[in-house]
Amino acid sequence: MKKLVALVAALSAVFAYADNYPSKTISLVVPFAAGGPTDRVARDLAEAMRKPLGDVTIVVDNVLGAGSSIGSNRVAKAAPDGYTILLNHIAMATMPNLLRNMPFKVESDFEYLGMINEVPMTVIARPTMPAKNFKEFRDWLNAHKGKVNLGNAGIGSASHLCGLMFQNALQIDMTAIPYKGTAPAMVDLMGGQIDLMCDQTTNTTAQIEAKKVIAYGVTTSKRLTTPALKDLPTLQEDGLKGFDVSIWHGLYAPKGTPADVVAKINRALKLALKDPEFIKKQEALGAVIINDKRVEPAEHKKFVAAEIAKWSPVIAAAKEYID
Ligand code: ASP
Repeated sequence: MKKLVALVAALSAVFAYADNYPSKTISLVVPFAAGGPTDRVARDLAEAMRKPLGDVTIVVDNVLGAGSSIGSNRVAKAAPDGYTILLNHIAMATMPNLLRNMPFKVESDFEYLGMINEVPMTVIARPTMPAKNFKEFRDWLNAHKGKVNLGNAGIGSASHLCGLMFQNALQIDMTAIPYKGTAPAMVDLMGGQIDLMCDQTTNTTAQIEAKKVIAYGVTTSKRLTTPALKDLPTLQEDGLKGFDVSIWHGLYAPKGTPADVVAKINRALKLALKDPEFIKKQEALGAVIINDKRVEPAEHKKFVAAEIAKWSPVIAAAKEYID
């Protein structure tokens, strides 16, 4: 009897907790630099999820470094109360394939909250790059073998993955220059300190439009419909067979976050994904909002597991290009 009373008390505490959630500021951890492509997604999403969560304040916290593993680990180890959540991208599937000492487990240390969007990448170069098109760019890269600097956001980041695939496809070794996000890398690219990088369109669209960088190709198998990017050829058209990469983003909470809290965040996410303002802002930057079963936590989890398996052979094939 005593046990039953204790159980009922514990259960009612959990339900009362979920009833009140959220009653204080939520920290949305972005494991890359402020002003970059993942940060852009997070800030637009935080704005769109605020109302569905009862006008709560959602603060974006940029916890940087090690290709997103530092910020992700912070959330994996946080209190499972729904007040610290993670927004991360394809790094959740590439880190397990690339980092030798992962401080957390992608598959078992998180509650999955649903996916957000998919964002194509573009191959961009410094504004002084003399090549007028992809063929000339490829010739330039070949002619400068051993002297080319490629920016990225650290091992396991999207720009790292894309850069590895690009070097592997061209069979050209480049020197990787790691940053804590592609926002600071973009500053150096525009200033000509590095030669090229692969980056998500949520960071590159405005810079391409303003001609602050030169774009040579898009990484998806189809051309984009975004007005500013629609004339860019795909890397496949440029002759890089099978090149197809698009960066998905999802939300995660620490393992053990109560199911009701997970359901509340997921419901707010689904409403945000239908918010015309959010859709408009993201589509203008080339992002495609998730509109399928991957907004469901269980499907999100299945998808990430499939992505870990999908990228494993690709990364193994390109491993010789890791500095
Ligand atoms: N998404 C990263 C950022 O926001 C860049 C990357 O993954 O390459 O900086």
